[in-house]
Amino acid sequence: MGKKVIEIKNIRKDFGKRTVLRDVNFDVHEKEVVSIIGSSGSGKSTLLRCINLLEKPTSGQVLIHGKDAMAGDVSLVTLREKVGMVFQQFNLFNNLSVLENCVIGQMKVLKKSREEAEKIAKEFLAKVGMERFIHAKPNQISGGQKQRVAIARALAMQPEVLLFDEPTSALDPEMVGEVLKVMKDLAKSGLTMIVVTHEMDFAHDVSSRVVFMDQGVIVEDDKPENIFGNPKHERTKEFLSRML
Ligand code: ADP
Ligand code: MG
Repeated sequence: MGKKVIEIKNIRKDFGKRTVLRDVNFDVHEKEVVSIIGSSGSGKSTLLRCINLLEKPTSGQVLIHGKDAMAGDVSLVTLREKVGMVFQQFNLFNNLSVLENCVIGQMKVLKKSREEAEKIAKEFLAKVGMERFIHAKPNQISGGQKQRVAIARALAMQPEVLLFDEPTSALDPEMVGEVLKVMKDLAKSGLTMIVVTHEMDFAHDVSSRVVFMDQGVIVEDDKPENIFGNPKHERTKEFLSRML
């Protein structure tokens, strides 16, 4: 296995009196694709948001390449640069063109020149099959196309790990495949990915590991063949019997 990119140690997250994550521990190594599965409300999004500190864990540690993000050993800017995120609702800037969506972060955060940023943006837009739409606005393209642009935008920042929070859940069924195809290609290319998903085929076929969460804890963390073929915990079995 490659180097550890992310280490999550004993993360706990409370919202008021409610504990939504407890004793969460896991590592992600270079080139791993980790799928996180579990029922709605089990804490999957909160965990992803804790990894790039969109939510501040109540206690515990988030290490990026061994550096403690909560202790400030890496700045928030650097953290968000290294850890990209793709959201269920795309979060594109609707007033900006497809190209501009993929350029702006590179210029503002990475301080790239416009010329260089456009070159890189076009490269990644081509990779997701959106090079013909660079001048379109988000409201002129489909949901699947928007999500592919959002992926290109995240990639243009050249992150070390990319987090996906249910990237296909807001899509019409006929558009799910094109986004999963892009994600599959990224996985093959060696991108380190953490993917919250209800797409069990993706979790099974593409992931190097599957994490099953229930009620704020990691119940099971194993290879896909074990999670799907030989789940050890009753709660995993019960969840999968509802999903498959
Ligand atoms: P999942 O992504 O698995 O559906 P979430 O991480 O979104 O689960 O939510 C886990 C629990 O935390 C849920 O009960 C949710 O209501 C609660 N929660 C999430 N975000 C907040 C918040 N900002 N304030 C209060 N409760 C929250
Ligand atoms: Mg969620």
